[in-house]
Amino acid sequence: MEYFYYRGEKCKECNNAVPIFALGHHKPLEEGEEQFSKVCMGFYKHGYSLQYFLKRLVQLYKERNDIQFDMICLCPSSKKDSFNENMKKLTEEFYKTVQLPYKQVLHRTKDTDKQHELKKKEERIENVKDSFSVSEDITGKNILVIDNLSTSGSTAQEIHRLIVHKHNAKSCVFVCLSLGYKAKDLDFDLNPAFSGKFSYIIEKLHWPKVPKSKRIKIEDLPESEE
Ligand SMILES: [Zn+2]
Repeated sequence: MEYFYYRGEKCKECNNAVPIFALGHHKPLEEGEEQFSKVCMGFYKHGYSLQYFLKRLVQLYKERNDIQFDMICLCPSSKKDSFNENMKKLTEEFYKTVQLPYKQVLHRTKDTDKQHELKKKEERIENVKDSFSVSEDITGKNILVIDNLSTSGSTAQEIHRLIVHKHNAKSCVFVCLSLGYKAKDLDFDLNPAFSGKFSYIIEKLHWPKVPKSKRIKIEDLPESEE
């Protein structure tokens, strides 16, 4: 079964979800080998399995998306002005396939430590703070940001703050290859039986901070309240 995953932690400024969609979860190697994480690392480091990731990203987009995005953009890597070459290739193939304009409006302005190497959430927030800039007018735009890994959502929170609150974009949706493994139990599984689209998911499914066992099952949620 082809599951996708969703993490919707609320922004402290606007109380809306900072939406992150993903293909799977990343488990650090030191915590034990796990197949999806291994394939992700192989792709990120060597460009293996590009077609697999492209196919799944396109599938996620086509099945779930109901937002008219104005542009797609890649999240820069942790070093100033730099991008992972394999992520760049994947983003290129993706935007051509789904026919979205690609505009690299987001830039890394300083070197930062790798988020997954920092243990504490506070350290991650501090690490990425003021480390991005936006290079053109994005007022009122809906922006799709592609990223490799969202460990704790701190980078997404910072980009959301910059894009939405400082540069007045309408929305900013993240699509990542993987989400951090630690919060796995708090994420929403977008299973094939659940047909919710991006806008419904973003509005309704926030991190409730309760484990899955105590939460209403996603299949039981109504499609819409209209
Ligand atoms: Zn916000």
